[in-house]
Amino acid sequence: MFHEFADEYGPEKVVYIYEPRSGLKGIVVIDNIAAGPAIGGIRMAADVTTAEVFRLARAMTWKNALAGLRHGGGKAGILADPHTPNKETLIRQFARGIEALEGYIPGPDMGTDETAMAWVRDEIGRSVGLSKVLGGIPLDQVGATGFGIAICGEVAQEFSEIGLEGARVAVQGFGNVGQHAARFLAERGAVLTVASDLDGTVFDPDGIDIEELVRLKLETGQVTVYPRGRKLGRDAFIDLDCDILVPAARPDVIDETNAARIKAKVILQGANIPVTPMAERILHGRGILSVPDFVANAGGVICASVEYQGGTQKQAFETIEEKVRENTREILELARAHSQMPTEAALTLAKQRVSEAMAYRRRG
Ligand code: NAD
Repeated sequence: MFHEFADEYGPEKVVYIYEPRSGLKGIVVIDNIAAGPAIGGIRMAADVTTAEVFRLARAMTWKNALAGLRHGGGKAGILADPHTPNKETLIRQFARGIEALEGYIPGPDMGTDETAMAWVRDEIGRSVGLSKVLGGIPLDQVGATGFGIAICGEVAQEFSEIGLEGARVAVQGFGNVGQHAARFLAERGAVLTVASDLDGTVFDPDGIDIEELVRLKLETGQVTVYPRGRKLGRDAFIDLDCDILVPAARPDVIDETNAARIKAKVILQGANIPVTPMAERILHGRGILSVPDFVANAGGVICASVEYQGGTQKQAFETIEEKVRENTREILELARAHSQMPTEAALTLAKQRVSEAMAYRRRG
């Protein structure tokens, strides 16, 4: 039930959308709109849960506030396999279901992309993460989130013993975020040694050829077809030696049962909520620098907000660089000054900003 998630920040509105004939089951959580209409992705997955959508919506509230965007946080979920032949029908129907929810601007997330966003725009006239022909900045294609993660890594090296030059990087979830994070980190001297997806893990301590792996993943959908290195199970990344870990798949993959085994010294959270609160404490106790999702992966939503205001790709990258660099430094400095976990420092700052924005709203 939603009341277990309700607090002084939200959610503002929760809408369930059900269409028995097509089988559409969707949920929209508009968490907080004090800073402006909520931007957040539509996640399409066969196992997406209501609780997941609530938590992701809140993560967007913090992320958008920290990034200083004129947007609040929200998220949507469609309970369906993203490979269903029915996808366009479901997305279009869902879009019509959210037409009146003007406080929510949908963007892409797992299982949706710029094509899905084009269908949404066609139905209701608003969405972000559109393709270039529709005047958008295709944030997954250009690698907005991965770029932000690399900028975050640049700042993190000033606060840890790990420099990017020669750093061994493990990417869990070699999808849009993971691939571009690997690319942009490699441009800064790092070496991809571990990459995983739903089917398994490839581990090559000599370095994985990122372009080759991207091509193979595109052609076959699997990283394990990579011709070199060792092939291991899906969760092998937990125990593999590396310097930087980028979890870029699903929530809660690092929890209290495995946090003690992580080998990385720096974690740049690409996925949303990939580390549980308990695991954050374990990692912090072990001296591992874990940069929270709503700081590290803000590149995508910053790009979306620049697109929404009619900006160019160049402006989007400049804005991502400026905001992610500034935010990461501010949070890591705060965390250091108060001997806090970065996630605590980030949350304190985000709450302050949301509360300030809420103070401008009409009461009652
Ligand atoms: P994607 O679907 O392109 O990629 C996800 C990848 O993770 C796929 O290769 C999939 O095979 C793999 N995967 C799924 N479950 C896995 C598991 N249990 N173990 C290993 N691999 C697994 O999705 P994406 O757009 O890259 O998003 C990834 C994560 O990043 C999501 O949590 C998303 O919410 C978050 N995120 C995305 C963006 C963005 O710009 N796309 C922005 C911020 C946050």
